[in-house]
Amino acid sequence: MSAKSYRSELVGLFGYPVDENPTVVMIEAGFRELGLNYRYNTMEVRPADLEIAVKSLKALGYKGANCTIPHKVEVLRYLDHIAPDAAIIGAVNTIYLKNGETYGENTDGKGFIVSLRDGKVEIKGKNIVVLGAGGAARAITVELAMAQAGHITLVNRDESRGKVLTAILNDKTPVKADFVLWDHTYKIPAGTDILVQATSIGLYPDTGCPNIDYDTIMPDMVVCDVIPNPPQTRFIKAAKARGARTFDGLGMLVNQGRIGFALWTGKEAPVEVMREALAKEFA
Ligand code: NDP
Repeated sequence: MSAKSYRSELVGLFGYPVDENPTVVMIEAGFRELGLNYRYNTMEVRPADLEIAVKSLKALGYKGANCTIPHKVEVLRYLDHIAPDAAIIGAVNTIYLKNGETYGENTDGKGFIVSLRDGKVEIKGKNIVVLGAGGAARAITVELAMAQAGHITLVNRDESRGKVLTAILNDKTPVKADFVLWDHTYKIPAGTDILVQATSIGLYPDTGCPNIDYDTIMPDMVVCDVIPNPPQTRFIKAAKARGARTFDGLGMLVNQGRIGFALWTGKEAPVEVMREALAKEFA
């Protein structure tokens, strides 16, 4: 009989502010389901303390951590290794430790890709329109490019932000990207295969809807929203009403968590249990 251990394996989250981030609920539901003696600690880390917090992961024997606002970009400076796609994105949201060294990954875009792949949606060669050019759009478009998307049209209100991301995609990935300034009611071009809503519009308590011509959404389009809360945004509802196949932001959030979960535990995450736990939190 082996000796009893009072020690748990540790992972967690660095953010500031961070109190309202519900990731712990999703990840710990997964730990419970698999009977793992792991804990996920939600930690308030001020920007000035980020370096020491990252170094502390090694000293405290952490398996890894998530990073959220405002640390996703700054954290790159303090990691031993950064995944090539995370380097292009310029942001890391998941750290794991291997042989005492820290590795940075960006699972936001990967989670999005996993959602599409689970739904048997082909990405290779497809025409994709992305609304927004912030952190989520950046992570998603780089991963779409890596997955051999055919063409990406970026639609953004702020011209310089949109053009910077378009240049990153054209210069650092295999995809061909174009930029459209979003200063009008945008009509989704005929021939669009996948439409991605990657702005913050519709995130609780906002009940807004992106300024597009909803009559230009066609039933053969795949329409995705990054907003996890509420999962059924007005945008998703409008796309469904047009007959399009939809993917919500809750699925993307769960799938990005699933990737971190596997990196930290070496186990396949119980995705359904994790989704249910988060959905309850957002209800
Ligand atoms: P950013 O602040 O980096 O970017 C916000 C984007 O939304 C910008 O492109 C901004 O345009 C655009 N935007 C905001 N308001 C409007 C508006 N009224 N009209 C047009 N465009 C608008 O945020 P993130 O990219 O980091 O996050 C965006 C959303 O993605 C968040 O709500 C977050 O919850 C969600 N998210 C979901 C994840 C998931 O796993 N489901 C993972 C990561 C993020 P502009 O540049 O013109 O200001």
